[in-house]
Amino acid sequence: MNMIPGYSKAAVLVEYNKPYEIREFPIPEVQPGGILVKVEMAGVCGTDVHQWKGSIPQKLPYVPGHEAVGRILKIGGSQRKDCTGEVLKEGDRIMWAHVFCGHCYYCAVNQQPTLCDNKFSYGFSNPGAYSPLSGGFAEYEYVIPGADIIKVPEDLSNEEVVGVCCAFRTAVASFERLGPVGVQSNVVIQGAGPVGLYSTVLYAEGGAARLIVVGAPAIRLELAKKWGADHVINIEEIPDPAKRKEAILALTNGRGPDIVVEASGVPSAVREGMDFIRKGGRYVIIGQSSFTAEATFVPGLIMLKHLQITGSTSATISHFYKAVQFIKNKKHRYNFTNMVTNKYSLNQINEAISAMMSGKEIKPVIVP
Ligand SMILES: [Zn+2]
Ligand SMILES: [Zn+2]
Repeated sequence: MNMIPGYSKAAVLVEYNKPYEIREFPIPEVQPGGILVKVEMAGVCGTDVHQWKGSIPQKLPYVPGHEAVGRILKIGGSQRKDCTGEVLKEGDRIMWAHVFCGHCYYCAVNQQPTLCDNKFSYGFSNPGAYSPLSGGFAEYEYVIPGADIIKVPEDLSNEEVVGVCCAFRTAVASFERLGPVGVQSNVVIQGAGPVGLYSTVLYAEGGAARLIVVGAPAIRLELAKKWGADHVINIEEIPDPAKRKEAILALTNGRGPDIVVEASGVPSAVREGMDFIRKGGRYVIIGQSSFTAEATFVPGLIMLKHLQITGSTSATISHFYKAVQFIKNKKHRYNFTNMVTNKYSLNQINEAISAMMSGKEIKPVIVP
């Protein structure tokens, strides 16, 4: 029997742009279908930075952190299975998806659950009636009933899989939403953060002919090369979009890439991508997480170039599963632990968020 503590420490966002506070919360009663986990590792994300600044407004206060890997301490009810049908038990290491209601228009009719009207998102906003321990920046987290779960194979380390919880499953979902890559398509990825890097390795393995990553800083572009990029363009060295376009056209037969993936989070990157993509090209936008950040662009390019522009947000457990399988099957070729560049304790959460903000790291993680 695992010892269940009475309380858990957790980082709390009380006010935007102010340091997180470390507070204690009572461990909730585990309802049937619910799971209490001990957090082993939680990734710090660009989204956490936006939440901290208030540019993705949330209901305060709350416990952030939406990228946790945890070990099961207690399962509520008689039996709980993971997404492959495996019966879960105490001591198993798991990851879990946001909870989609399954019954709203977007879940039931449109069959795009990530657009669910009643989504419960871990590490986003005050959880209301549920335990405040619904974010990963905590010693313990409560996985609510109804969450889809994946058991993490024991031969994969936390460092290898922590990126699945957000960036990698997002990249997998958008890769599927784009549709077939086609034979010998040239691909440009805008952005070399976690989403851009996982997209890089997906397209490298998924059939891209020439794969170009545009981003910064150099440490991220180095990893992009290790993960399959044929060429990288450092925006710090080439700050002028017109010069970048020249470089991209020179690498893509003068026509521009067939596929562009926007994973930068910078609104003006969309204008730039629409400019250098080839006629008839396909563009998938996955880095823009703000409902309000604006950029100007020329709408006529969409018509005159026959562009297909697609957006994709978040992911379901299906994409978690495929991301984990990808890591399992390709780890002999790519070192997925390279994603994690630094580890911090829960008490160092404010240092970790500053490190993420500065862009000097790829993914800092919290090890509570
Ligand atoms: Zn994230
Ligand atoms: Zn729904």
